[in-house]
Amino acid sequence: MTIEITLIGTGVAMPQPHRVQSGILVNLDSPVLFDCGSGVLPRLLDYASIGHVFLTHLHLDHVADVMSLIKAKWLCGSYDLQVYGPSGTKEWLSRVFDAYPYMIGKMNVDVFEMVDRDRISIGRYEIVCARTAHGMPSLGYGIADKEGCVRVVYSGDTEPIKSIAALASGADLLIHECSFPDSVPDVTNHTTPRMLGEMMGRVAVGRIILTHLYPHTIGFEEEMMATVHKYCSCDVTIGKDMETVVLDSA
Ligand SMILES: [Zn+2]
Ligand SMILES: [Zn+2]
Repeated sequence: MTIEITLIGTGVAMPQPHRVQSGILVNLDSPVLFDCGSGVLPRLLDYASIGHVFLTHLHLDHVADVMSLIKAKWLCGSYDLQVYGPSGTKEWLSRVFDAYPYMIGKMNVDVFEMVDRDRISIGRYEIVCARTAHGMPSLGYGIADKEGCVRVVYSGDTEPIKSIAALASGADLLIHECSFPDSVPDVTNHTTPRMLGEMMGRVAVGRIILTHLYPHTIGFEEEMMATVHKYCSCDVTIGKDMETVVLDSA
């Protein structure tokens, strides 16, 4: 079971030419999208085949292209979409539809609100939810193979939290937000390299990719990777837009 992960967007709400907003495409038996911020949709060449979208939370840099994805799917006759997210996702999407009444009734969009430890079967895989800490309802997600082993974890936006460390224990890959370098003071609701290192220092994970990078991180990339690596002996890299990682069968 090969899992192919493409970091569509590794950026944030402040625009940067080299990073669009949050989005990760994972090719399981079918393509599954995690977050869909601004700039993600134009990079989804096979958007019609996306049947499942998992939202970590409802901040604009994670959901801005969701309605555009829905419209694009409608225009090409791909009418089914399942949207998963934290509490509030149903009301949010219903309000977005209210702003575009001509779209109401055009698509079969099912919305599921998830909580910590919920598990959703997607083909031969399971998506495992973990609560996160971002000052609003928010979730991270793990992808488990048919043996139940969590292979990949995506944190979404969060402060360091045990639920994500526990989910990532034994995983091949942790894609964790690292919004700011440690030189930015008093970071809350997000994670810095030292905070991530302290959280993951005693957790066995194969590899860590840092994402959700504010412009403040420019010029600090080497230092950020080195700081996390100092705590965690695994490979630590800064995510790049459209970078693909392939995980082979365990
Ligand atoms: Zn956020
Ligand atoms: Zn964000």
